[in-house]
Amino acid sequence: MPSYLQWLRFFWLPGLILILPFAHYLPWLDLGPLYNKQLPFFLLGAALVLSVLYRSSRVALAAGLFLLLYAATSLGLLPEGAQGLPLYLALMALNLMLIACARDRGALSLIALAWLLVLIAQGMALFLLQECCGPLSRQFVLENLPVWVSEDRDASVILPLLVCVAAAVGASLLFILFPGPTVAGLFSCTLLLGYGIWTGLPLVPIASAAGLLLILSLLGAGYEFAFRDALTGLLSRRAFYYHMLAPGRHYSLAMIDIDHFKKLNDRFGHQTGDQVLRMVAGLINRHTTGRTFRFGGEEFAVVIPGRDRMGAEKALGHLCGKIAAYPMRLRAAGRLRDRMIPGRSGQRIKVTVSIGLAHREKSLKKPDAVLKAADLALYKAKRSGRNRLCVHVEARDQSTKCKSGT
Ligand code: GH3
Ligand code: MG
Ligand code: MG
Repeated sequence: MPSYLQWLRFFWLPGLILILPFAHYLPWLDLGPLYNKQLPFFLLGAALVLSVLYRSSRVALAAGLFLLLYAATSLGLLPEGAQGLPLYLALMALNLMLIACARDRGALSLIALAWLLVLIAQGMALFLLQECCGPLSRQFVLENLPVWVSEDRDASVILPLLVCVAAAVGASLLFILFPGPTVAGLFSCTLLLGYGIWTGLPLVPIASAAGLLLILSLLGAGYEFAFRDALTGLLSRRAFYYHMLAPGRHYSLAMIDIDHFKKLNDRFGHQTGDQVLRMVAGLINRHTTGRTFRFGGEEFAVVIPGRDRMGAEKALGHLCGKIAAYPMRLRAAGRLRDRMIPGRSGQRIKVTVSIGLAHREKSLKKPDAVLKAADLALYKAKRSGRNRLCVHVEARDQSTKCKSGT
């Protein structure tokens, strides 16, 4: 999937909010349990504990904030009616958007604590403001907003709704630009808050649903930890293992290894090495069909489904040439430019890969046998001079045919 469409992978989370307006039409969906007054404490508490375990300060802050609001409302410290609650929900949405902008620093960090204090201060300021200027601001809204906005709406809801829409738009941009389970969870919470303000939902189901969304976002993060490689964003070795349990009847398997990567690390440093790994991963993704995995270190595996062996060989031969010809230049600070910019000085880094390819066939029925054949073909590519594709050929002597990448 191209990088600009990565957000689609996490769309299931904000997509859950789309169910809410249609819940009435789904007889099997009973949202009644969300109205249980104890449920928000359980769900938000669970989200808080999980976020500490997952070291996610962002989810911890969001869960802590919801818990505070819910506890304060339950104790009668904050208004539960239409008069005050929407403003608090809007403030919450705004803060969730800001939290989404931050980086995770571990749930118990000092910065997370400082943020929590700032958030509590905001709530108190809002409380005092409402006490003294609430009626004035409602008057202002009614007089200054266009009729179509204020028509048929309780004035106390319009301003919070606008704030919430702004927060949701900001969060949606973050979600598209920096997709991930945490941003997806926070974005869906802003949508939930907007929906809550719009329909006048009580706080109990909003807090319960928010707890559920935050737990789901942490489960999504857990899935990413387990099945994605943090450096390249590719599927991990564990995902490869599960994929190869049932790879299908017809497929080709390519093992790709960066040539002389140790030398590159020694010469330019591990940070540059990491960037090269990311670029190579991106190029493999761009120029091959099928699933790409980071097998380990500087090795990648690509599983190409289908019977089109010639197509797979052509694509991988093409990939070899593309990587060898790809312009990677070193910046003064040791950072790589993704593309060569004419006129810029900088040392060119030449990166090549060797590829071993094997197809599933009569003599190679088991995934392990295909993997072994692809590995042997890769060693052949290394021994034959690197920067080339070698294909395992089904024959009595189990030979290989090779093609150079340049
Ligand atoms: P060959 O052409 O025979 O494959 O030689 P090579 O140097 O690429 O292979 P070798 O196995 O000797 O070295 C692999 C190096 O990859 C060693 C290790 O430091 C480096 N490496 C493994 N994982 C990472 C990583 O995540 N980041 C960086 N920067 N380097 C890594
Ligand atoms: Mg290697
Ligand atoms: Mg190597």
